[in-house]
Amino acid sequence: MSHPLKTFHPPVRVLMGPGPSDVSARVLLAQARPTIGHLDPAFQDLMEEVKGGLARLFHAPEHACVPLPGPGTCAMEAGIMNMLEPGDVAVVAVNGVFGGRMADMAERAGAEVVRVEQAWGQPVDPEKVEAALWARGAKVLAFVHAETSTGVMSDPGPLCALAREHGAMTIVDCVTSLGGIPVNAAEWRADVIYAGTQKCLSAPPGLAPFAISPRALEAVLARKTKPRTWLYDLRLLMSYWGEGKGGRAYHHTAPVNAVYGLHEAMVAYFEEGEAAAFARHQKTHEQLASGLAALGLDFHVAREHRLPQLNTVIVPEGIDEAKVRGHLLEHFSLEIGAGLGPLKGKVWRIGLMGGSASERHVMICLAALGDALASQGSNVSVRDALKAASR
Ligand SMILES: *Cc1c(COP(=O)(O)O)cnc(C)c1O
Repeated sequence: MSHPLKTFHPPVRVLMGPGPSDVSARVLLAQARPTIGHLDPAFQDLMEEVKGGLARLFHAPEHACVPLPGPGTCAMEAGIMNMLEPGDVAVVAVNGVFGGRMADMAERAGAEVVRVEQAWGQPVDPEKVEAALWARGAKVLAFVHAETSTGVMSDPGPLCALAREHGAMTIVDCVTSLGGIPVNAAEWRADVIYAGTQKCLSAPPGLAPFAISPRALEAVLARKTKPRTWLYDLRLLMSYWGEGKGGRAYHHTAPVNAVYGLHEAMVAYFEEGEAAAFARHQKTHEQLASGLAALGLDFHVAREHRLPQLNTVIVPEGIDEAKVRGHLLEHFSLEIGAGLGPLKGKVWRIGLMGGSASERHVMICLAALGDALASQGSNVSVRDALKAASR
């Protein structure tokens, strides 16, 4: 049997899962502009703008900032593989999927990993982290700012301060936080900090903003062994990005058009303004929360630790959660996320990230959820939910 290839026309979706978020036409159009060579002087100028834009986004004027080729996970891997050598001790806070992924990577780097476990739905506890740092001269403390698997925010400032007190450097995962809530590498004095494009920046997936402090880069340059990655070896990468001496050298071919997309997403972001973007995420979160309450739905996370851009909602008793997601996709072309790990089948994850953090998205989501619940026999009023959200 033959499988003829034909042009793919994706369905038009409303993306309210844990990423990707809705991408604007201006960013999609930017990505459709002509491909040029990655060593073309015009592209190198663009690279410089992108590096400057990332430094502004991360609030990292002293850090070396680059967009790595790959998804958010590649920046995590770059951070872990470069900062850790076999035999190093790493303290990794694990309060969800992504902390667990960092710990797994640190083991693969050959490090001795001390996991600081936390219940899924709780923020990282600085006291537990401090106890782990005391116990073992750690080289690195790694943790997640915005844990997308649970919808919890941890406070990076105190955690980075603790690490410094104990002589450790920090790796902070800001994949879901960057663009949605304040991220400030300089204020936190974070060493390695990274993100993704497809969450609150609303560019297509495929690039990972990455920043490293001067002292961390120095430590990477002073390694005794080569990092267990070639593509993400920062010593090679930094010369490609023009951060080393001797100008740009070929290392890999940058995903040129993806860089156009990230660049345009940053242009749009700075046009709106950071404060306005944060306020929009917060406001739409509150609208969604009011509407969900009117539908009788509860959050998994205590109010003070909730991420506005990732809402973890408890599946009510007697409701088939997968069927609800299927209903949303089939009748509203709306995507929300399922629970992961211990939260599988127990929660939905509703993203209000970047371009998906709008009142229109909140209303569509509430209408669709209400309809899906009603179709399973729940006695809910969509009108009440919409009224609550617009109040
Ligand atoms: C999405 C995410 C990642 C991984 O990003 P990918 O682009 O899926 O590789 C890492 N950490 C957190 C907190 C995330 O939300």
